[in-house]
Amino acid sequence: MKKIFVILMLMLGFIARSALAELKVVASTSDLASIAKYIGGDKISVKYIVDGRSDAHFVEVLPNYMVMVSRADVYLKVGLGLDFWAQLIIDGSRNSKIQIVDCSQGIEVLGKPSGQVNASMGDVHAEGNPHYQLDPADGLIMARNIEAGLVEADPANTAAYEAGLKSFEDQLNSKLAQWQKEAEPLKGLQIITFHESWPYFSRAFGIEIVGFIEPKPGIEPTASHTAEIIDMIKIRGIKIIGKEPYFSNKAPNVIARETGARVVDLPQMVGGSPGTDTYFALFDTLLARLNAAAGSNP
Ligand SMILES: [Zn+2]
Repeated sequence: MKKIFVILMLMLGFIARSALAELKVVASTSDLASIAKYIGGDKISVKYIVDGRSDAHFVEVLPNYMVMVSRADVYLKVGLGLDFWAQLIIDGSRNSKIQIVDCSQGIEVLGKPSGQVNASMGDVHAEGNPHYQLDPADGLIMARNIEAGLVEADPANTAAYEAGLKSFEDQLNSKLAQWQKEAEPLKGLQIITFHESWPYFSRAFGIEIVGFIEPKPGIEPTASHTAEIIDMIKIRGIKIIGKEPYFSNKAPNVIARETGARVVDLPQMVGGSPGTDTYFALFDTLLARLNAAAGSNP
């Protein structure tokens, strides 16, 4: 009798858990987490490792990330070498059942190095530029990859994930029309940025990124390279120095003082600064800041 009671309680416990269970998703970045939430809605819970306040190239692998992943069903990776640290977290989690989704599948990769890449030079874009989230067209590819991953991990909720993807795509298309209008006065605008985060954004909106404060992606500014950037800004009459929020103001301020150009905080991921809580809000804020800095009125 006691045995039957125990089995019954176990069964009830199992039923209660599965009825309430959300699919547990962990994403490398806040961008992937934001897109996943649009698709998965209340069928999933989403956590992420890094947001726009930190440099996603350099993440310290902490034990609590491994604990988080040990309890997860799906892991969303950026790929292209950006979140190479994700594999260390996944291995450390000892979660052999987790489903890993590489969200860069199907992305047309920009900035692929031609010839040999010398890793000793510290170039963090050795597999091509990994900041593809900054073209909204790539946001749709990311969303499709995420939806496919959710469906595979949780086929019972396929209809919900399909509807989530459709709704994301509809919202993205309507925002895209708005963003293209807002970007109209920015076409051909030349700016300098700290890191090479922007080739996909540039492709999407026509802004020209003509130089970087970093001599190479991931390499600290040097005096000689800074002098070259100062000359370029003076010669071309550049007015804007874009800076991702997690970089030091030191070199940008020196350049601004020498040239009269203005330093503008340009968050390149969700959560990088106020007004960037979602993937859509990120583009709203970027275009508003660039228009304000350029003195244009879309
Ligand atoms: Zn980078």
